[in-house]
Amino acid sequence: MPLDCIFCAIAAGEIPSQLVYETEHVVAFADLNGQAPTHLLIIPRRHYASLQDVPAEEIGIVGELMQAAQELARERRIWPNGYRLVINAGPNGGQTVQHLHVHFLAGRQMVWPPG
Ligand code: AMP
Ligand code: ZN
Repeated sequence: MPLDCIFCAIAAGEIPSQLVYETEHVVAFADLNGQAPTHLLIIPRRHYASLQDVPAEEIGIVGELMQAAQELARERRIWPNGYRLVINAGPNGGQTVQHLHVHFLAGRQMVWPPG
């Protein structure tokens, strides 16, 4: 785990955060700079710099991130109103934190195309 990765530190409990979901491999917490009434970040505990850095033999972790989204939507009664998941990857994707994360956005009407 890179010593300077803020999301690794959050997953390890070294930086206090409000965890809203925790399994063996996945955690979720509120985004510091929410862009919707509900804006969570769903991350693997293991460090992957981006989606591109998940090896084929570990790609199942991406399904676990999706499962977290499903369960959060169910528990918080966000479904059936709906939500949006976003994975920013690389410079053109607008990724600013180099630890794979899924944005879970809900509580307002989303627009298309995204910015
Ligand atoms: P991205 O631009 O897709 O890499 O998203 C990074 C997200 O992480 C942004 O929405 C930030 O607001 C959020 N963020 C950065 N640092 C923290 C932190 N310490 N706790 C919670 N969210 C954070
Ligand atoms: Zn990390």
